[in-house]
Amino acid sequence: MQLLDGNLCAKEIREEISIKVRTLKKQGNRVPHLVAVLVGNDGASKNYVAFKARDCDEVGFQSTVTTLPETITETDLLKKIDELNNDIAVDGFIVQLPLPKHIDETKIILAINPIKDVDGFCPENVGNLCLGLPTYISATPNGIMELLKRYDIKTEGKHCVVLGRSNIVGTPISILMSRNTDPGNATVTLAHSRTKNLIQLCASADILIVAIGKTEFVTNEMVKEGAVVIDVGQTRVPDQTKKNGFRNVGDVDFENVKQKCSYITYVTGGVGPMTRASLLQNTLKAHERRSK
Ligand code: NAP
Repeated sequence: MQLLDGNLCAKEIREEISIKVRTLKKQGNRVPHLVAVLVGNDGASKNYVAFKARDCDEVGFQSTVTTLPETITETDLLKKIDELNNDIAVDGFIVQLPLPKHIDETKIILAINPIKDVDGFCPENVGNLCLGLPTYISATPNGIMELLKRYDIKTEGKHCVVLGRSNIVGTPISILMSRNTDPGNATVTLAHSRTKNLIQLCASADILIVAIGKTEFVTNEMVKEGAVVIDVGQTRVPDQTKKNGFRNVGDVDFENVKQKCSYITYVTGGVGPMTRASLLQNTLKAHERRSK
C-alpha cells in the first residue's frame, strides 16, 4: 500500500506557483489577488478560510478575508458579490459555504461573475468542464485529478466508482474521470443513497472515490484487492484528547481498508491540502486570464 500524500503534492504546487509569482514581481506586475467571503461564525468555515489566506501568503498572492455577520440579508450579500465582480483589483473570489439558512446558496453562486468564480461553481464553468473547454475546475475534483496525475496512476479503462453525487465533488469528478484525458478515460459509475447493491458495486471498483460525509462508511468488504481509494470525506467528531476538541474523520475506515489498497489517501493529508492548492491554481489562472 502506498499513501497518496496530498501534503507533499500540495507543497510542490505551492512551490511552482511561488516561482511564477516571483517572476511576476520581478517584471513589475501586480500579483494575483484572492478574496474569501466568510459569512457568520461557523468554526470549520473560519478554519478553511484562514488556511486559504495562509496559503496565499505563502505563495506571494494578495489575499483579503471579508467577514460578514451571520444576520446579513441575501440582498446585502448580493450587493457585496456585485462589488467584488466589479472590483478591478480582485482576480477571483470565493464565498465560503455553507451559508446561513436564510440565504439561498444557488442565488449567490449564480451572481458570481464566471471569470472570477475560482471555486468553479457557476453554471458556465461547470458547463465548460462538461464540454472539456477551458474553465476553473472546482477545487476538490481538480485536486483529486492532480493527485492521480502526480502519482502517475493509470486510470484508462479502469472501473471508477464515485460514491456521492454532490455538485462540488461527486458529479464533477465523475465527469472528469470519464473524459478522454489522462488521468481519465475510466468507465465511471456514479453512486448515491438510492444505489442498490452498494457493497458489491464498490468492491468491483479499481478506483473508488468516496464523498458522502458518513464517517468510516467504506469498510473492508467494499474494497477490491489492489484498488486505489480516494477519501474525500471530512467530518468533525468530538475528541477530548485533541487541543481543539475534535478530529476529522473520513468516509473510509482507513485502518480496516488500507492493507487491501494499492494507493489510498489519508483524511487530513490527502484531498484536503490538494483542494486548497487547486484554489491557488485557479486564482493564478484568473490573474493570467485578466492579464491577457
Ligand atoms: P453532500 O452534498 O453532503 O452529498 C453527499 C452525497 O453522498 C449525496 O450525493 C448523497 O446521496 C450521498 N450519500 C449520502 N449517504 C449515502 C449512503 N449511505 N450511500 C450512498 N451515498 C450516500 O457531499 P459533499 O459536499 O460532496 O461532501 C461529502 C464529504 O466530503 C463531506 O464529509 C465533506 O466535508 C467532504 N468534503 C471534503 C472536501 C475536502 O477538501 N477534503 C471538499 C468538499 C467536501 P443523495 O444525493 O442520494 O442524497
